[in-house]
Amino acid sequence: MAATENGKKTASPEEEHPRKAFGYAAKDTSGVLYPFAFSRRNTGDNDVTIKILYCGICHSDLHSIKNEWNNTTYPIIPGHEIVGVITEVGSKVHNLKVGDKAGVGCMVNSCRSCYSCKQHFENYCAAGPILTYSSLDVDGTITYGGYSDMIVVDQDFVIHFPENMPLDRGAPLLCAGITVYAPMKYHGLNEPGKHLGVVGLGGLGHVAVKFGKAFGMKVTVISTSPRKQKEAIERLGADAFIVSKDREQMTAAMGTMDGIINTVSAVHDISALLFLLKSSGKMVMVGVPDKPLELSVSPLIGGGKVIAGSCIGGIKDTQEMIDFAAKHNVLADIELVDADYVNKAMERLAKADVRYRFVIDVGNTLPMENGKKMASPEEEHPRKAFGYAAKDVSGVLYPFAFSRRNTGDNDVTIKILYCGICHSDLHSIKNEWNKTTYPIIPGHEIVGVITEVGSKVHNLKVGDKAGVGCMVNSCRSCYSCKQHFENYCAAEPIYTYNSLDVDGTITYGGYSDMIVVDQDFVIHFPENMPLDRGAPLLCAGITVYAPMKYHGLNEPGKHLGVVGLGGLGHVAVKLGKAFGMKVTVISTSPNKQKEAIERLGADAFIVSKDREQMTAAMGTMDGIINTVSAVHDISALLFLLKSSGKMVMVGIPENPLELSVSPLIGGGKVIAGSSIGGIKDTQEMIDFAAKHNVLADIELVDADYVNKAMERLAKADVRYRFVIDIGNTLRAA
Ligand SMILES: [Zn+2]
Ligand SMILES: [Zn+2]
Ligand SMILES: [Zn+2]
Ligand SMILES: [Zn+2]
Repeated sequence: MAATENGKKTASPEEEHPRKAFGYAAKDTSGVLYPFAFSRRNTGDNDVTIKILYCGICHSDLHSIKNEWNNTTYPIIPGHEIVGVITEVGSKVHNLKVGDKAGVGCMVNSCRSCYSCKQHFENYCAAGPILTYSSLDVDGTITYGGYSDMIVVDQDFVIHFPENMPLDRGAPLLCAGITVYAPMKYHGLNEPGKHLGVVGLGGLGHVAVKFGKAFGMKVTVISTSPRKQKEAIERLGADAFIVSKDREQMTAAMGTMDGIINTVSAVHDISALLFLLKSSGKMVMVGVPDKPLELSVSPLIGGGKVIAGSCIGGIKDTQEMIDFAAKHNVLADIELVDADYVNKAMERLAKADVRYRFVIDVGNTLPMENGKKMASPEEEHPRKAFGYAAKDVSGVLYPFAFSRRNTGDNDVTIKILYCGICHSDLHSIKNEWNKTTYPIIPGHEIVGVITEVGSKVHNLKVGDKAGVGCMVNSCRSCYSCKQHFENYCAAEPIYTYNSLDVDGTITYGGYSDMIVVDQDFVIHFPENMPLDRGAPLLCAGITVYAPMKYHGLNEPGKHLGVVGLGGLGHVAVKLGKAFGMKVTVISTSPNKQKEAIERLGADAFIVSKDREQMTAAMGTMDGIINTVSAVHDISALLFLLKSSGKMVMVGIPENPLELSVSPLIGGGKVIAGSSIGGIKDTQEMIDFAAKHNVLADIELVDADYVNKAMERLAKADVRYRFVIDIGNTLRAA
């Protein structure tokens, strides 16, 4: 499929990923791993395809599947200690051939042009290396790791494994091994006869001991657990062992070590460790405690000692490390587990109950998963669709070919005719709320015509006009959902875009030609409602309608204040008038007065900075809908309310507001918040709006104007809503 946008074609990630693959993925912060069918790209000219045989379980995998570092994209397939056999090579691949044993560590690409990359330190790439999983790949897809049957990787990031190295025990070297090898190399802690301290005896520490011995050094383990002494010396080959809490042992070892590799990632006393160093000795930190450590400077200054940090290592050094390890028989001590043991392994790893690394026997146990197979989102999404997507935080929207699921029994397929541009769309495409998954297709003010209905759909039929607002599903069983407040679903509703759908895919919004939605989240549009001007009601309309309904601000004769006259405010004015209320607009801009009264039908207008006007209106309003999302003076607004009056906040300022409690207490007033509305109320709102001719004031734009519209929206240069004419102007070839 090609887009006509300047004759250019953007292939979707799914088009570029035609090869079926299978693995274990976590779907949410529970971190539980499920069997997961997905896809990989074809072997490109510079690519190597590897059939995965073993994958180590790193502590980073555990952090990532639970999103403990706040950078996880679900679904996530972890694993960056990958080894296997090459099954295919691209036409430009040199030095690697089919049948070779090969490994992939923490990175699968980098910018290749920054200062660090040019020095073979891709691990310190200024743009951030492309990590082996949960990272944005160059083709716009999210990378999937090694808990899977195969992987396709650029040749420059593939490590060749010598034939004599056992692959299972070699796998952990790709992360744990290089993490300790690189600092030993760059800090001169690889010279025979030198004395190395290794702090902590886990996945990293036990490999550091082995490398130290292979370099011909004296190695002392420093640990909190006396019972690890026998193991450290007899099994791992350390020369000595110090219990870090034993003052006598620590004192005896003062000034004896040339360097220390510190693998501890808990908060601990580093000053005590510095005393173990000789003068000019170096301690390199490779674990990351989640809180800052206390550093007494005196043991650092006395003796000219150094504290350094180090993070994994570059690809060249990783190859060198593997070759060295093969030659000197440096291997991780592992517990080999079946693929279906992976959740249990994670539980044990969280309790440090492993000696010293779990490695998954992918080759022998992954494809055997009880013969069961989950359908992949891509298999479930066979229908080609087309829209506009942002690929990164620039927020620029590009023509984008993608796919939607078939119409399920409870589904309705809608050919989209119009979609409003909401301010949330702008925030989301630029990832201003830090929860955007790229590529993102925004749009949650969607209207169109139904083209297909599932066998269990009632009340909706082909040819009906229909809309989709901010949500496409919810848990349906929590307290809020049972009361028709899906908008307050305890599990969070599934939003129309950029949300994890029930089938494990990310939802795509209405800047697109069609959408498939469960019937319970589809709004029926009455025949007499203009679809273009009705679209914005699905977000802006329900956002002000719901609080008016639930706070009694919908009764004839009452006096409503509307603060802010944008996309939300102008609809609030119209709904207020339709309810038969007196409506006063409160705004910072005197130049909006004529418009508010003559065009929108407001009864009065107050300039919020005009003290005389504000004083004259004190105690006159039954309620206020406050749509402002900038920081502003809410206490002054409270004075406008009658006693027991209510102000409902529907905009979200990004900083807290100052609240003087006195105007709240004096008069028993209420401040409330409200977020969009439930599906039942949205249908009620649309029916009410159709009956009373409440419609948004819009500027209808062509699909290819969307980036310009976003620019203007950012400057509030729109009166009052952009709506994209999808049906007439969005074209896929
Ligand atoms: Zn790791
Ligand atoms: Zn770089
Ligand atoms: Zn919205
Ligand atoms: Zn719910």
